[in-house]
Amino acid sequence: MKAAPFDYVRANHVQHALELLSQWGGEAKLIAGGQSMVPMMAMRLARPVCLVDIDRIAELKQFKLHSDHVTLGAGVRQSTVEHSAELCKALPLVAQALHWVGHQQTRNRGTVGGSLSYADPSAELPLASLVLGANMQLESASGGVRSVLAPDFFLGPMFTALAEDECLTAIDWPIWQGAGIASSFEETAIRHGDFAMASAACQLQVDDHGKFTRLSFGVGGVDGTPLVFSDLAVQMQGQTFNEETARELAHLAASRSQPGTDIHANADYRKHLAAVLLHRVLWKAYQSACKSFRTH
Ligand SMILES: Cc1cc2nc3c(=O)[nH]c(=O)nc-3n(C[C@H](O)[C@H](O)[C@H](O)COP(=O)(O)OP(=O)(O)OC[C@H]3O[C@@H](n4cnc5c(N)ncnc54)[C@H](O)[C@@H]3O)c2cc1C
Repeated sequence: MKAAPFDYVRANHVQHALELLSQWGGEAKLIAGGQSMVPMMAMRLARPVCLVDIDRIAELKQFKLHSDHVTLGAGVRQSTVEHSAELCKALPLVAQALHWVGHQQTRNRGTVGGSLSYADPSAELPLASLVLGANMQLESASGGVRSVLAPDFFLGPMFTALAEDECLTAIDWPIWQGAGIASSFEETAIRHGDFAMASAACQLQVDDHGKFTRLSFGVGGVDGTPLVFSDLAVQMQGQTFNEETARELAHLAASRSQPGTDIHANADYRKHLAAVLLHRVLWKAYQSACKSFRTH
């Protein structure tokens, strides 16, 4: 199919894009890399009256490393992150997640902000943003700038806290500091590059006795949004892990998910998959964090 007729305006700067969104009053949609928007329009699942192209706005393409966080402009391409040694070092979980996002060609066009705004429950970057506690900067012509933390940003499948006249302009990603940090991202998809049937992500920090000082983990593709298990993570503070306790934690977390059934897998299978993947990331990251003390 071909897209329904639409107007097209290329915004020159953020304020220009915000004014256009405000003028069109909900009839306009932003387009960044177009990797989700164009297929949606071609299938007529999206029929914007006007497309506001933000892909050439220089302000949205910038990123900055601070001592405790990285600010990524929403328009930074996914491939820019995966090919930047400094960003991968600061945000190892994001680098691991990107490995699973589509294909090199889609990552060359797709933006970090586009993936977060699209909010597919199976998408990797929303899960990574929840696990790391990313902070989204939203901007509108009328309301100025507001910050929304990842758990308050993802409200349902393809549904976020973004208002019709708002643009996601930047994302602050916390950098974990100190020794004994490791992360892991795993997923199962029908083919590599497809959206995940289920995915799991974890970042943790241990002391030199293998006791948790910090833990954050979550799953994607098995509920309306990715899920993060902050209460379970807090309970692990000061404790050590073995393969069995990692499995128990994974099963407990996965039992909270509410996956759907489709032609690829039923709900029970997806829940099982979530538990398996969670166990894998928890145990892998824990072993690698403990090992980091032995190799230094
Ligand atoms: C073959 C193929 C495979 C794919 N596989 C995966 C996969 O495995 N995992 C995955 O996560 N994605 C996958 N995708 C989807 C895609 O790569 C990402 O979702 C995409 O990168 C989104 O970024 P974009 O810049 O292209 O967004 P666009 O397509 O331009 O926009 C997506 C949505 O976000 C909105 N939007 C974009 N930028 C902003 C902003 N700054 N502020 C507010 N709203 C905004 C748009 O209005 C639109 O609704 C795949 C796509 C293709 C074509």
